[in-house]
Amino acid sequence: MEKDWDVIVVGSGLGGLSAGAHLAALGKRVLILEQHYIAGGNAGVFRRKRMFEFDVGTHYLAQCEPGGAIRTILHGLGLEDHIDFLELDPDGFDTILFPGVCVRMPKGWERYRERLIEAFPEEAAGVGRCVDTFQAIVKQSETLRGAGGTPDFARLAAEAPDLVRWGMQPVTALFDDCGLGPVPRAVLLAQSPSYATPPSRTPTAVAAGFLDGYLRGAYYPKGGGQVLPARFLQVLLANGGAFRARARVARIIIEDGAARGVELTTGEQFRAPVVISNADLKRTICELAGEEHFAPATVQRVRQYRMALPFFVVYLGLDIDLRDRLPKTNFWGSDSLDLEATYTQAFAGELPEHPLVFISIGSVKDPESPWIAPKGYTALDVMALVPPHPALWSTGEGPAHGERYHRNPDYRALKDAFTERMVDAAERMIPGIREHIIWKEASTPVTHEKFTLSTGGTSYGIEIALDQVGPNRPGYATEVAGLYLVGANTQSGHGISGVIKSGVGCASAITGRDLTREAAEGAVFSPPDRLKPDPPGWDPWEASRG
Ligand SMILES: Cc1cc2nc3c(=O)[nH]c(=O)nc-3n(C[C@H](O)[C@H](O)[C@H](O)COP(=O)(O)OP(=O)(O)OC[C@H]3O[C@@H](n4cnc5c(N)ncnc54)[C@H](O)[C@@H]3O)c2cc1C
Repeated sequence: MEKDWDVIVVGSGLGGLSAGAHLAALGKRVLILEQHYIAGGNAGVFRRKRMFEFDVGTHYLAQCEPGGAIRTILHGLGLEDHIDFLELDPDGFDTILFPGVCVRMPKGWERYRERLIEAFPEEAAGVGRCVDTFQAIVKQSETLRGAGGTPDFARLAAEAPDLVRWGMQPVTALFDDCGLGPVPRAVLLAQSPSYATPPSRTPTAVAAGFLDGYLRGAYYPKGGGQVLPARFLQVLLANGGAFRARARVARIIIEDGAARGVELTTGEQFRAPVVISNADLKRTICELAGEEHFAPATVQRVRQYRMALPFFVVYLGLDIDLRDRLPKTNFWGSDSLDLEATYTQAFAGELPEHPLVFISIGSVKDPESPWIAPKGYTALDVMALVPPHPALWSTGEGPAHGERYHRNPDYRALKDAFTERMVDAAERMIPGIREHIIWKEASTPVTHEKFTLSTGGTSYGIEIALDQVGPNRPGYATEVAGLYLVGANTQSGHGISGVIKSGVGCASAITGRDLTREAAEGAVFSPPDRLKPDPPGWDPWEASRG
């Protein structure tokens, strides 16, 4: 393989793939190196028994509606006609279940508002004001973004009063101001594991922006989660780039204060004047690049960043077909209304007494997929946020440093016990599934660390909290010339849409162009005919293996 490149990307999460695909489309020679055997990072899938395919971290997506930010980016890469998005039920893409309450979340702010007021008639005024404030914050942010430039305070106060008043307040302060009781509070934040921030640290603008994304339409990629990495990879390869799996970067080579390339754990070196890290932020700075290349204040800030909580996930294969029984909906819920307690316990290193559970059913969302589950069967994921603490999971240095943990009896006992608690929770939400389980396995934060090398197994990077948003989050460029960051830790944030956008932002920082604006104006960086037609039976999983 060529040793000299224009750009090397460490890691093939969707952030790295998006940056790599854009830069290759713009004429750079790009090499992406991935330690796992397949591209995609958290956006990937795995298959079992030649029957089931499980998503790791693509359960539902925002901004994929026609004209949405992700569609615009795909158009710019010539991928618009190569990825179809299946919409979840517009009358209830999420089903929210707390003791004594069930709310099916519909598309659109107005319907959402009505649905909540129907559910909580005695709190109609407070709920209505809270939803109106959320919506106003979203609209005002859009107006300001559209106007461009950095607004001065007078303009902010005049054009964005709700954003100024509430945007950077904890969402719990808005709830207090609206006089909300515990049930609507829990329902309004039921999907908070999608950003994994305790309510008391969640900026109201984040809660509002997150809801807005899905209220415009919630989508699932046709063909399953692996389709997105496979298609981005196709663009990279079609534009002269290269991808190598099973290639773990041990060191980012920095000489004379500038990035010069990378060295793999095998000792093999690749050279490039630009290195983009899609790997975990703390490991990038403290281990791959080396703290000595950064100002002490930067190192301290990086060390102090709080990582978002990781997930515990149970993957179930059932011998019944939920396609016939359920609409395309996710389930969110807990048997407690006190969501703050879930987070407090997790941050204290205790498994939550009442986990806030999320269920995603891939075979219902994409009923025709040849991979997710055959007709008559169901593949579903049940997940909840848990602590990353090594002491809880009976680990030491962790798998990123080579620790073997599978056979540790304490680890296994805890994993098995929590798996059963999660299955019980799933059974309460979708009664009757337990007796139909024919495949069951689970991943802990330790598993996630092993497969993505992230700190504590998180997939969201640094927590998106009041003290860690906006300018308090890393940008794309670093203080080492030629070293860039992409993915969940950057200002675009985590989630599939966030990291795809981070790739555009990172490629913009490297090229000095505003690729987001260019794409919005219709630019096509890689024309669709650059991609070879798919062979019969094209399989995104095979296509992602490099
Ligand atoms: C259980 C779960 C559910 C989720 N559900 C959703 C959802 O429904 N919707 C949504 O939008 N988001 C969801 N997410 C979040 C989303 O998947 C992630 O935020 C996103 O995929 C992270 O992308 P990234 O670009 O930051 O890279 P990552 O996915 O973190 O990938 C980084 C890559 O770098 C590689 N790497 C690291 N170190 C090295 C090295 N030294 N050498 C070579 N390679 C290296 C890793 O192996 C990995 O492939 C979920 C995540 C999880 C875990």
